[in-house]
Amino acid sequence: MNYAELANPGVLEQPVYEPGKPIEYVAREYGLDPAKIAKLASNENPFGPSPKAIEAGRLAMQQVHLYPDGGCHDLREAIACARGVSENSILIGNGSNEIIELLGHAFLRPGVEAVMGSQAFIVYKLVAKLFGATPVEVPMDGFAHDLKAMRNAVTEKTRLLFVASPNNPTGAANSEAELIDLAEGLPDHVVFCFDEAYAEYLDSAPDLRRQIEAGRKVICMRTFSKVYGLGGLRVGYGYADPELVALLQRVRQPFNVNSVAQAAAKAALGDHDFMEMCRRENETGREILSAGLEKMGFETFGGSANFVLCRVGDGVKVFRQLQERGIIVRPLAPYGMPDYVRITIGRPEENTRLLETMSGLLETA
Ligand SMILES: *Cc1c(COP(=O)(O)O)cnc(C)c1O
Repeated sequence: MNYAELANPGVLEQPVYEPGKPIEYVAREYGLDPAKIAKLASNENPFGPSPKAIEAGRLAMQQVHLYPDGGCHDLREAIACARGVSENSILIGNGSNEIIELLGHAFLRPGVEAVMGSQAFIVYKLVAKLFGATPVEVPMDGFAHDLKAMRNAVTEKTRLLFVASPNNPTGAANSEAELIDLAEGLPDHVVFCFDEAYAEYLDSAPDLRRQIEAGRKVICMRTFSKVYGLGGLRVGYGYADPELVALLQRVRQPFNVNSVAQAAAKAALGDHDFMEMCRRENETGREILSAGLEKMGFETFGGSANFVLCRVGDGVKVFRQLQERGIIVRPLAPYGMPDYVRITIGRPEENTRLLETMSGLLETA
């Protein structure tokens, strides 16, 4: 018997998640200077982490012979305070991806269903399959989640329903009113998992705190990987009813979030000036990228997050051509959008370079 025959069926059915290639790999592959590579592939913050987070992380390094605070007390308190909620309604994860997995541990098994959009963040499907549950993929309404269709896809077997707004990779957001409608219209046996990875980029993020307080089964998930620039440290959090938080606390590892990450995340949360700068630059970059690409005749979708979709024809081909020239973007064929690439909004000079390179590709085509 080989290992595959011994493995759980959900393991073999895992779709492959293709992360953006690290800068060093691309540099080696194409003989490029790593310092000159623009990574616009993974929706990271092009301005890096906040200097305050770096300093807090550096200090925390001096204590890494000690196990971290398994309860993440300081960070939970800081988040609870910033969001105006109670500390026992906050759960910290090793990235918000871990919280998605914890939801799987708690609620998914063979025979149950998880409802998600057909071009939603792929981790929902990965987790559903890992636990042997059935992913129910609901066609999207253009680039946005079709919440009515998702509601209609709920059956007796549904346990989790995932909505990311803005969604990755499509970038479209749903309105607060329709999200509240969904939260209030779901049956009592379904947990609404609301993924707010890009919430900080919205002018006003939808607020489901009232619905949670009123007893609706909702968990809101946020991350420090995007506007807070801490993707490499892996920290995210969930906000939910304390009863749900307590349940998820039972299925996590005792030390799931390391001490450097806890300290850096708390400092990042407090650096409002840095976050505001990143947001402003992101808005400016979105306009420059969208306008520049449109001017070259490409259809774009600017979305509401920190990336722009561009219809380039053959997405994989353009991805390769850009990569050879030191710019990494994300082809969207794995999401059923073969003619699109997703471009993370970069620093001003990276955005200019992307536009110049795309324009060069058109000339040589
Ligand atoms: C980036 C992203 C996350 C965040 O993942 P982490 O594990 O916190 O790094 C979650 N959901 C969506 C939709 C994302 O795009």
